[in-house]
Amino acid sequence: MYKYILFDLDNTLLDFNAGELNVLKTIFHSEGIEMNDENLSLYREINGDLWRKLESEEVVINDVLFGRFERFFNHFGISVNGEQKEQMFRKGINDAHDLIKDAKDILNYVKNKGYTIATASNGLYETQMKRMADSDILKYFDYHFISGQIGYNKPHAAFYQHCLNKLEAGNASEVLMIGDNIVSDIQGAHNAGIATCYFGEVDDVEADYSIRALEEFKNIV
Ligand SMILES: [Mg+2]
Repeated sequence: MYKYILFDLDNTLLDFNAGELNVLKTIFHSEGIEMNDENLSLYREINGDLWRKLESEEVVINDVLFGRFERFFNHFGISVNGEQKEQMFRKGINDAHDLIKDAKDILNYVKNKGYTIATASNGLYETQMKRMADSDILKYFDYHFISGQIGYNKPHAAFYQHCLNKLEAGNASEVLMIGDNIVSDIQGAHNAGIATCYFGEVDDVEADYSIRALEEFKNIV
């Protein structure tokens, strides 16, 4: 059976969406723009478009990080320093550490059952470590696999291979990955021979297990 559990962080243990919404509200308000569904959709559209352009290598990362705020406020005829807004955003995200419901309870549960527990997260190492420390979940983990430090993002095979090497898992089938992202968490881990637990609202995800609430993870491990 499983000996190791890999936990995705954002929107699996840490409520990234809640933190992001709060900081976006502050940034919108800094230029007198209201936070409502319409303006949030506009931001998401601009942000999504830029991330897609990054994937197809039409732009570089700073065009995304700075440009999203410049474009958003341009829409209202406001010209801003995108780098400053990005700094506000980064600071807000660094400080955000709301937990998903039952996150601590689940970590306690798997810890007490003797599993070796690791993070498996796409993100900046310092940011993720700080958010875990602030939310008091850092103490549960035996290992941290964070893309910013490893140099590869999930779902890249090299990311998961790195995890397996460091865990010294005799067999990938001793490892279970839980996460909310169908591509980076579920398909990526599956391709590495790791068992998968999808946590989210989408039906018919091709994972070994699917749960809609963290509490249900207790039925699996
Ligand atoms: Mg996630």
